[in-house]
Amino acid sequence: MDSTSNEHPAAVPSAAGEEDERIIEATKSLRRHIGLAEDPTDPSSVASPNPEEPMFWIEVAPPSTRGAKCRLDSCTENIMPDDYRIAVNPGSNSFRGHQNSDYYHVACFERIADFSQAAFLDRVQPLTRRMWPFRNLKSSSMLDGNYLLDAGAERLTLEWKRSVGKLIDERDGVKAKDDSKDGLKDDSTDDSKDDLNPVFRNLLYNAGSSKYVPQEIPNMDTFERHLLTTTLAPNESDGPDDDDEWNLFDEYLVAREDDPTSLDSRHTLSATLFLWGQHVVLATSSNLTEKGKEQKEAELTPKAIRAIKRLAVTPMPDIQSAFRGGRF
Ligand SMILES: [Zn+2]
Repeated sequence: MDSTSNEHPAAVPSAAGEEDERIIEATKSLRRHIGLAEDPTDPSSVASPNPEEPMFWIEVAPPSTRGAKCRLDSCTENIMPDDYRIAVNPGSNSFRGHQNSDYYHVACFERIADFSQAAFLDRVQPLTRRMWPFRNLKSSSMLDGNYLLDAGAERLTLEWKRSVGKLIDERDGVKAKDDSKDGLKDDSTDDSKDDLNPVFRNLLYNAGSSKYVPQEIPNMDTFERHLLTTTLAPNESDGPDDDDEWNLFDEYLVAREDDPTSLDSRHTLSATLFLWGQHVVLATSSNLTEKGKEQKEAELTPKAIRAIKRLAVTPMPDIQSAFRGGRF
């Protein structure tokens, strides 16, 4: 799963050295772009904040015939439509009034972005119905169903970010802030699971289970609450007698908050999205090869297939309330 452990052996030392050099340069350039010192071990390298505050969007590559070039120099494969990708926006070639994005395969980006550091992790944002106004995209293109993550990838990316964030805080001795009494958190991105309002936590983690009992959540957007109870629910159950319910995070989340070694691998996000994406194809495709059919039979139960089909849907924005709010 960790592709750093099975990289090409250095059979041609000069080529490997050149490759390392390119990765080092790309790492420095990304660090500069997000306002960090190029080289944290070199005292002469100084941080200069980037007022543009680039974000690392996790999104789905839109339709195109040949795909898009991956920004990582040494990568020779294009990013194909429907692949999960990272868009750094604004990109490094943006200038005032004209914003470009830099696109990467998720695994390529992980080679230069150190997500075991909060300065990188904090910039990760799944592109969803709630966040797209901040992504600088044409709304018509997004409303055609392009770019936005499916429900499973959304939940997995947010949960990956939360788990890795918690591990970073524990490693660095940062105490989790206790704001559970201050009211409802409306996002699960950067708080410990324990700090969430218990009613909201119940919705986030227990929805879909036969044991889930919905509770009243004051001030919560009814559209979002409905989505979290249905399309986005992480559990799938065969009913009250089911003592082996299916859980999205148990199945696919590679970084676990109870396993500090999760921080040692650079590729936990791409591994998570890869496993998920592969099963989405198996569960939803109507023209699998014989090998694919065998794999589906071996790896997916009817309950899993039902769950994956539900979570493979992309939740679209609440257009009516967006109109009322003047977003269009
Ligand atoms: Zn690439």
